[in-house]
Amino acid sequence: FLTIRDLAKSFGDNEVLKSINVDLDKGEVLSIIGPSGSGKTTLLRCFNGLETPDKGIITFEDGLKLNFQEKIKKQEIDRLRRKSGMVFQSYNLFPHKTVVENVIEGPIIVQKERKASAIERAEELLAKVGLKEKRDFYPHQLSGGQQQRVGIARALALKPELMLFDEPTSALDPELIGEVLTVMKDLAKEKWTMIMVTHEIQFAGEISDQILFMDGGYIVEQGSPQEVLKAPKEERTKQFLQRIL
Ligand code: ATP
Repeated sequence: FLTIRDLAKSFGDNEVLKSINVDLDKGEVLSIIGPSGSGKTTLLRCFNGLETPDKGIITFEDGLKLNFQEKIKKQEIDRLRRKSGMVFQSYNLFPHKTVVENVIEGPIIVQKERKASAIERAEELLAKVGLKEKRDFYPHQLSGGQQQRVGIARALALKPELMLFDEPTSALDPELIGEVLTVMKDLAKEKWTMIMVTHEIQFAGEISDQILFMDGGYIVEQGSPQEVLKAPKEERTKQFLQRIL
């Protein structure tokens, strides 16, 4: 579905990503783990064009191919953007719009969908994330966990091929984390293709097909949860897991 070859990215002389290679099949869940500052978020943002790599090739199975050593057409970046829905750490909801208005904004503005059909779909998505009865509430009237579930519904409303999650539970109080993870688990069961950056290692182990452990801008180890989390080969992976588990 998606391949990344030899991706690299620097901010000034800080080389944040170094020779990154990833292969992802349709319907797979990939989790990116690693210490703070290792480049996880930057890598995730490269998948949807929020960051532009300095070099490397991103290829999708439908033929979209971006070679960052060449000049990229705006059209191609737009195509890349449209492929994914992003869920941010800090929800990023529009504070003066209701829940349902937040969810229909993208489909109406970006995809020029008719309002009636956008609302119909938003209601379905709100039911899916367990927030049907909150449709007319404003973000400040919701808990963090509820706001994040609206964030997920809003990303799904754009009918993306790929869902990206950037530490979706790290801003939440511990008792609210579970409700967001449950929604993500449901999406994985429905075979959404997902890439997430997470500190929830146990959860990542349960739902992922692949785990990618990053440190210092490199992928130190990648493989199944069994391989990376249960039987890591690299010393750095072992140390990281020991510290956090
Ligand atoms: P965390 O788990 O703390 O979120 P991370 O693994 O996601 O960390 P990144 O956020 O990708 O790490 O950051 C990797 C490095 O890139 C850090 O050294 C950071 O300071 C730097 N960095 C990230 N974004 C920018 C930017 N826009 N400009 C300059 N430096 C940046």
